[in-house]
Amino acid sequence: MTSQTVPTAWPAEALYRFLTIVGATVDIVPQPAGGLPGQHAAVCRGCDADYTYAVGVSYDLKKWAQGHSETCRALPRPTT
Ligand SMILES: [Zn+2]
Repeated sequence: MTSQTVPTAWPAEALYRFLTIVGATVDIVPQPAGGLPGQHAAVCRGCDADYTYAVGVSYDLKKWAQGHSETCRALPRPTT
């Protein structure tokens, strides 16, 4: 049996969160840094890859986040 540690505290901006196979997260956030009003993005907290969608949260955005979380093996930088 395997166990995974799921971060319990979400960033306030995260609307959806996908867990990668190594414990990082892919967060869907509104108006990413440098983005335009209304834009949303999926951002991997492990490798910093991102995918931006023009307006709102689309099926494509969730699909990218799901797909990336299934394959990314980058670990998030330690916070301490
Ligand atoms: Zn990644």
